[in-house]
Amino acid sequence: MTYTIPNNSCVGCDDCRPQCPTGAIRRVEGEQYWIDPSLCNNCEGYYPEPQCVVGCPISCPQPLQVKKGRARVDVRTATSPNLFPNGKNNPFASSMVIWEACNLLTQRESLAWKVEESGQLCYERQVNQGRGTIALRITDTLDPEPPVALIGAAARQAIEGLDIRAAAMHLIYAAHATGLEQPWEQEFIINDRQIEEYLGLEKRKDLSKAAKLTLIKEIAQQPCAITAAINWPQQGQIKGFTIPESRLWHLLEIQHHFQSDDMGCKHLVGLTFRIRAGIWAKYFLNKLRCKERTAFYQYATLPKSLLGALMSIWQQHEGAARMMLWLLFKTRMGKEQRLTLPTLMSIAYGEEKVMLASSQREERKRLLRTFESDLEVLNHYGFKPVFDPVTYPAEIQPLWAKLVDIPEDAEAALEFWINDGSSNTRLTDSGPRGKWNLLMNARILCFQLPPELAQQLAEFEKKKQRITNRTIKSKTQPVLCGEQIITARKTLQLTQRDLAQMTGKSQSWIRDVENGRFRAKSEDQVLLRQVLGLAH
Ligand code: SF4
Ligand code: SF4
Repeated sequence: MTYTIPNNSCVGCDDCRPQCPTGAIRRVEGEQYWIDPSLCNNCEGYYPEPQCVVGCPISCPQPLQVKKGRARVDVRTATSPNLFPNGKNNPFASSMVIWEACNLLTQRESLAWKVEESGQLCYERQVNQGRGTIALRITDTLDPEPPVALIGAAARQAIEGLDIRAAAMHLIYAAHATGLEQPWEQEFIINDRQIEEYLGLEKRKDLSKAAKLTLIKEIAQQPCAITAAINWPQQGQIKGFTIPESRLWHLLEIQHHFQSDDMGCKHLVGLTFRIRAGIWAKYFLNKLRCKERTAFYQYATLPKSLLGALMSIWQQHEGAARMMLWLLFKTRMGKEQRLTLPTLMSIAYGEEKVMLASSQREERKRLLRTFESDLEVLNHYGFKPVFDPVTYPAEIQPLWAKLVDIPEDAEAALEFWINDGSSNTRLTDSGPRGKWNLLMNARILCFQLPPELAQQLAEFEKKKQRITNRTIKSKTQPVLCGEQIITARKTLQLTQRDLAQMTGKSQSWIRDVENGRFRAKSEDQVLLRQVLGLAH
C-alpha cells in the first residue's frame, strides 16, 4: 500500500519531500512530484501518520487505493460552539484592521502595495487623516514568531496565490473571536465539518471529501499569513497606541484526522484548527475595557447567507464578491453611503483597470459589461443599488435595472411595451454617447441591504440617534469659555503644552481656544471638562 500525488492538485512547493522518512517522494526536473511505490511504506515504523499528508499545505497526497472495508471511527477534539445558532447571522469583529485584511484577501494584487526599503511589500491604510496607520504585510511561513514578512518576488507570488474564498474564513475567525471574553488570550477550535456547513460546502456533491479538505486546509491558512502593524491615534477618551507587527490570526495547530480501512490504509477524513486572535483584539475587541472607555469593542453582523453567496459567485463574478464584502463593512458606517462609480469599480476591479478603461474603448466596453452584470448579481443577493436620479438616470442605468419596472400582469406589460415603443427613447436603446464619462460622475445613493444586515443597520441608526440626543443635551450646557479653561489649567499647574498632550490636541489649538479665537466643539468641550476636572 502506498500514497500518490494527484498531479492536478499539487502546487510543487516541495514541503513534503524533506519530510518523507523513506525518500519516496521524487521529482524529475520540470516534471510533477510523484511517490515511488517501491519506497513508500505509509511511514510505517517512523510516524503514526503519513508525513507527506500532514506536511503538505493542501494535504494533496492520497492513498493509491480507494477506501476498502469498514473504517475505524475517528475521535475528534471538541470544537468551539457553532456559529449562527439562529441559522441566520452572528456578530463578527469589524474593526478597520479586520476590514482592511478582508480587502487584502479580496483585492490582492489590485491594491496599492508599497515596496519598502527592506524589499517587503506593504499595504498601508491611513487612519484619521494620516494621524495613524495600519500596515499590512504578508508572510508564508506560519511558524516563526515574530513573523517575518516576505520580500520582493516571493511576496508578490504569495499575494497572487491568495484565494478570495480565504476572506470567508477570515470572517468566520472574526465571528468566532467575538464569542470570547479575551480573544487575544483565548483560542477557538473549529473543524472541517463546521467550515463545510458555514460555507455551504456540504451541499456540493461535485466535490469529493478529499477535494473539500484540500480547499479548507488551503483557505484556512491564508488569513493567518497576514501581519499587521498599527499606529492608532487618540480617539476621544481612548488614548493612542502602537501595536508592533504581529499576526492577525495565530494558527496554533492543524490536527489531521485519519481513518484506517481494513487494509490498514490511512485516509484523511478531517481537519481541526486551533486559532487565536492577534494582539489587535486587545484594542479593538475588548468588551471590558470598552465599558471603561479605554479600548474599542467593534462588531457588526455577519449574515450566513453572505458566506454561501461568496462561495457561489467568486469565480464568475469576482467583482461582485469584492463589492459585497466591502459593503458588509461599509454598512457599519450608516445608511447614507453615496458611492461614486469610480470608487465601486476600483474596489471591484482595481484602480489600474479603471484607468485603463478610461483610455481604451474596448477595455471600457468590457469593464462596463462586467460591472453592470456584477451589480445585477449584488441585486440578486439582496444588495439592491439605489441609483441617484440626478447623476445616474435611467438612460445610463443597466438594462436589468430598467426591466424591474415591467409589470407582472400580462396586459399591463403589453401596454408598457407599447408605450415604450412609441416613445423617443426605448428601454432597450443602447446607452447615449459619452455614457462612460457620465458614469464616472454617477452615484449610487445607497444599497438596500439583505434583511439580516438591514436589521443591524436599523439598530445602528437608533444608537446614532441616541448619541445625537445626548450631544444636543450636552449642547444645552453652558459653553466653556477661554477664561474658565485658563483658570482651571493654572489651578492644576498645567502648561498649555501639558493640556495639549492630555487632550490629544495641538498646543496652538489650546492657545486659540483660550484666546477665544474659536469655540471648541461640544465633544471637545466635554473632553476639556473631563481633563480639567470641571463639573459637567
Ligand atoms: S506516506 Fe510516508 S513514506 Fe509514503 S510517501 Fe508519504 S511520507 Fe513518504
Ligand atoms: S507538499 Fe503537497 S503541494 Fe507541495 S510538493 Fe508535496 S504534494 Fe505537492
